[in-house]
Amino acid sequence: MKNPKTAVIVVSKLNLDLAVLVLKKIENCQIHGLNIIDAEVDVTFKNLAKHIQLLQKEKTNIIAICSIPIIIRSLEGKLPKKHNGSCIVALSPDGKYTVPLLDTHSGANELATKLATILNSKPVITTQSDTFLGVSPDNPPPGFVLDPDCNYKEFISALLDRRSLKNVPAYSWLKSKKIRVSGSSKLEIKFSINSSIKPNKELLVYRPQKLIIGIGTVSGASYVKLKKLVLDTLEKKDLSIHSVKAIATIDLKKNERAINKLGQYLNKPIIHFKASELNKISPQLANSSEYVFRTVGSHSVAEAAALVAAGKSSKLIVEKNKSAEATCAVACSRQVIKNLPSTQNGTLSIIGLGPGSDAWRTIEVNNILDESTHYIGFSGYLDQIKKRRNKKYYRYPIGQEEERALKAISLARQGNNVALVCSGDPGIFAMGSIVYEILDNEENETDIDIKMTPGISAFQAASAKVGAPFGNDFCIISLSNLLTPENVIIDRLHAALKGDFVLGIYNPTSSKRKYFFKTVLDHIQSVRSSDTPVVIAKNVGRKKEFIQCLKLREIKSDSIDMFTVLIIGSSQTKSFTKNKESTNVYTPRGYKLEKNRGIA
Ligand code: SAH
Repeated sequence: MKNPKTAVIVVSKLNLDLAVLVLKKIENCQIHGLNIIDAEVDVTFKNLAKHIQLLQKEKTNIIAICSIPIIIRSLEGKLPKKHNGSCIVALSPDGKYTVPLLDTHSGANELATKLATILNSKPVITTQSDTFLGVSPDNPPPGFVLDPDCNYKEFISALLDRRSLKNVPAYSWLKSKKIRVSGSSKLEIKFSINSSIKPNKELLVYRPQKLIIGIGTVSGASYVKLKKLVLDTLEKKDLSIHSVKAIATIDLKKNERAINKLGQYLNKPIIHFKASELNKISPQLANSSEYVFRTVGSHSVAEAAALVAAGKSSKLIVEKNKSAEATCAVACSRQVIKNLPSTQNGTLSIIGLGPGSDAWRTIEVNNILDESTHYIGFSGYLDQIKKRRNKKYYRYPIGQEEERALKAISLARQGNNVALVCSGDPGIFAMGSIVYEILDNEENETDIDIKMTPGISAFQAASAKVGAPFGNDFCIISLSNLLTPENVIIDRLHAALKGDFVLGIYNPTSSKRKYFFKTVLDHIQSVRSSDTPVVIAKNVGRKKEFIQCLKLREIKSDSIDMFTVLIIGSSQTKSFTKNKESTNVYTPRGYKLEKNRGIA
């Protein structure tokens, strides 16, 4: 299956036991429950339709324990593209039937069958090819691509009609007892890397992905000329672009626009290798150059990169082909290439968008967003970035921080430029520390470049809206009890209160822990004067921004939500209102200023 994340959706408490059974057996699975269910689930949602649509966007597989009509209505006709990476399986509430509903050939049939084995139930497979032919030809395994020029519908309906093929398919995933082999059949399946083998309505052609294009260029090479060199090379050698798994080059070319643009145009990943890795296969090169060695540190770029990427059993099938600005070579692996080798050159930038508005985002962050090819983050944060073309988005719900970090690290290890997107500052109650923790716990050496880029944190943004409340020593405390036990939070709060620090309070509340904010407030009110200036700052820099300056005694806990940061003054913090509209809050640094000195 392409995406192992799975959500088991429950809309009634009655289905929880069944959901837990599924949870135990399917990896990377979570229970998502309608919020009216009063039970412990991993994720709650209010609106089934919106939630299903969100999960589909996030490419999460769905096992819905509810009636099929409810699911159909929830989709509201808004179907994602076929094979988008999220499939839907309905599970009857008695656990007796599993029904693949959407993206049957991209995981749903497989998931329903797996689920049926787990639950000892029956998968209700409704796709024609599986039912009558026993195979699903439009869902080849990794490493094979059905040539997009195939007239699949026509071919498959003829095959369903005649149930016979002219030849025995070369791979077991296409063999079935339900299909006869008969010399008189006109229907044929071929596997070929050669573009001259073209599909037609009686010929289905699969492209085994065995090829790697190696490229080297001068700096600032022309994209148009590079594209022509590569396409001409493939054409001359009768090689299909669909058999190409990736483009490979040297790490110095990570920001080479022509290569990156070609990767986007051909929709192929680009992998970069260090010169030291390229040098390892020097004996296999057809062309080795001292000049190239002196310039970039390896005796070849195009040939070497193609060979390294195609793996040990590979051969050079197109030697270095040259234009004035670029070189191109093609290596062919003996087997199909399912996974590309990991390179040591990916970059993982952990970036902070700031609180919300574009003006409060650093230039460096904007540059990284331009340069990165893969964006990973909570979907709400990714929505804050202007949509850019040719970027891959990996949207995650709240709560899947570890999954996000692991995905970001793994994409960077594949040689991608990845931006792990956080709000505010990435090092403050955000993804930075989890990435470092994962890397610290790994046995092997860190093989990716990590770049941490600061952003304006919520407390700084809130502070700027009212004055300078953090003008003297302060403590920032998160009230989230998910990772820190409540008694530890309260102990730290008391230490900060005792030290008379100004407090910045993050994650003050959530729907599940409203009570805790009340407890915290009681503790603060028992130590600090009721006149202490307080700032409630909600959605700072975003559309629904709301800033309120008041006194400690005036805080109402129900006016606080999870988009709020709170500032609680120290005994020194002051507030004043010079005009009716705005109150300012500040904490003196300790200068002994003269009163009314008069500034001309
Ligand atoms: N890395 C972020 C913090 C993420 S933790 C930062 O540096 O700002 C999430 C908490 O941050 C929220 O519960 C809220 O308390 C606070 N927060 C983040 N953005 C905010 C904003 N625009 N306005 C008010 N509070 C915000």
